[in-house]
Amino acid sequence: MEGIYLFSIDLEDVRFQMADGRRYPERVPVNARRYLAWLKARDFRCTFFAAGDVAEAYPDLIREILGEGHEVGCHTSRHVPLDRRTPGEFRDDLAANMDALRRAGAKEIRGFRAPIFSLTAATAWAYPVLRELGFSYSSSVLPAKNPFYGWPGFGPGPKYMEGIWELPMSVARFGPYVVPPAGGVYFRVLPRPFVLRAAAKRRGEGRPLLGYCHPYDIDTEQERFMHPDIDDSRFYNFLMYYNRGAVFSRLEAVLKKGFRIVTYAEYVATLTIPSA
Ligand SMILES: [Zn+2]
Repeated sequence: MEGIYLFSIDLEDVRFQMADGRRYPERVPVNARRYLAWLKARDFRCTFFAAGDVAEAYPDLIREILGEGHEVGCHTSRHVPLDRRTPGEFRDDLAANMDALRRAGAKEIRGFRAPIFSLTAATAWAYPVLRELGFSYSSSVLPAKNPFYGWPGFGPGPKYMEGIWELPMSVARFGPYVVPPAGGVYFRVLPRPFVLRAAAKRRGEGRPLLGYCHPYDIDTEQERFMHPDIDDSRFYNFLMYYNRGAVFSRLEAVLKKGFRIVTYAEYVATLTIPSA
């Protein structure tokens, strides 16, 4: 049986998260369209978790994504991690994110991804807010220890959290670390055989493979600058640029392991809500 690859794009413009970011050239639409072309050539639909500021800046891009049959979900308005918001602020921010996507043509919005996987045990107040706003799922938990965020005890599979399906990132053990092998920087930086073995293992277990990429993950032409949200670490910033040219060939290699890409909403529709 084919494995399910829940590939996703976190559609954000890192320049908007930096005080002086707009002095660098615009790169998001051109890179997002490279993903669109790749998906179209393989006849796959995926989920784009889009920040509100991106929907405001590039409404035509959102329309194009929707027009090609992909799903659009929320990634907050301004990419602020949940622990820097109160539940009320989060609610207002998310409502604005939904409005921005609707103005760009989105009809049904079901999915949410927290910035930098900042949904943890400490910010689980987000689930009732998501439910109130009509979401059906979130894919916002990294079920491992991480330098920034993470919810190590969450477990490897989907869980029904106060009316919302949480689809945690797929993780695998790499030496002393537990990492998401199909996630952005990890997908680029970790040894290719490790990434492919981890993907094959998920498939063998009958679990979907969850992963994400950003527009910048494939951008070999982006100007060098210090990326936001990495504590101004030169090492992390080196990794932010490392091996971007390898992403499409790695995606192809994952597909060759017997996966097909579907949207998160399609996958959630196959889950059975546990009886209370
Ligand atoms: Zn993000």
